Amino acid sequence: MKRDYYDVLGIKKTSSTDEIKSAYRKLALKYHPDKNPGNKEAEEKFKEINEAYEVLSDIQKRKQYDTFGHEGTAGGGNPFGGGFNADDLGDVFSNMGDIFSDFFGGAKTSKKSKSYYSRGQDLQRDIELSYLDAMKGIEISLDIFKEEVCPGCHGSGSSDGSASKQCPKCKGKGQVRYSQGFFSFQQDCPNCSGTGTVIANPCPQCSGSATVKGRKTVRVKIPPGVDEGTALRVTGSGNAGKNGAPSGDLHVVVHLKPEKNFKRHGDDLHTETFITFAQAAMGAEHEISVIDSKLKLRIPPATQAGTVLRIHEQGFPKLGRRSRGDLFVKINIAVPKNLNEKQKEALFEYAKSMGEIPQDVQFQNESFFKKIFK
Ligand SMILES: [Zn+2]
Ligand SMILES: [Zn+2]
Repeated sequence: MKRDYYDVLGIKKTSSTDEIKSAYRKLALKYHPDKNPGNKEAEEKFKEINEAYEVLSDIQKRKQYDTFGHEGTAGGGNPFGGGFNADDLGDVFSNMGDIFSDFFGGAKTSKKSKSYYSRGQDLQRDIELSYLDAMKGIEISLDIFKEEVCPGCHGSGSSDGSASKQCPKCKGKGQVRYSQGFFSFQQDCPNCSGTGTVIANPCPQCSGSATVKGRKTVRVKIPPGVDEGTALRVTGSGNAGKNGAPSGDLHVVVHLKPEKNFKRHGDDLHTETFITFAQAAMGAEHEISVIDSKLKLRIPPATQAGTVLRIHEQGFPKLGRRSRGDLFVKINIAVPKNLNEKQKEALFEYAKSMGEIPQDVQFQNESFFKKIFK
């Protein structure tokens, strides 16, 4: 059940407009959320007070309320006549904040002074590079859809070069005031978007905005060594500025395509390779491919499976420097799959020489073990 608006404000049905105002001011100050942080009851009360005041302070609404009760005030739902739903407290308070900002000294409204001469917006583009491109560097072309200086007015926004004039709606202030109850609040002027000036004779090509949307190809040099998340700034390739103001920048953000068999950690590169058992045991020279080059690895004798060899300065170039990260190669040992008879015999002899097959078993069951190796 909704409480009677007169009861809410603690006034009589016969109270004058001034009495209503004074009662409202007292209660609003008492229950204002700034004075009662986190107090739900005060919030409810504050909402109720505002709703009551909004109706009783308006002669028309008050008359309707006096005749029809709550039914007479647009269902009693939205005392501020649009813009937010009174049942939604969050919205109520964001609106209250605006309304009360002047009341509490204007601390809540930041008075933006918008300049007519404004730098263009920065733009961002994400690109995906292979490990090879990131390692060697590459020059790419990006097709950018952006605001460019209007060719019709060369960025002045005016058809005849005449100067901009003061906005008649806000008289150059850039802000307009609205009244709500006996409070008022301000907003950016809708006529000039808060700039305070308007174009006297707008250019027909850009309608006075000084810029037009267009495609532009931007060449971007990607230096060697960029990594996932590296952002490169292309100065002046963002949106065009207005009235001769500088353009914004284009930020190119790098992403790396995954590369099979390679992992990057900082400037270091990790990979793995397979060598044979004989190479592992006796040592060898073993060639591997590393993104942009081939590399001869020196495998020392008695290299164990899982050994990681570190090769200095064979990783990614360090961005903007001459040095490079390191390459880490994990050594795996490949077990041969299709041995022929001769190879099997050799391997059997080898196993025998290593004592892997007991002597007595060897002589009795040589053929049996040969079968096992098949
Ligand atoms: Zn123009
Ligand atoms: Zn204006």
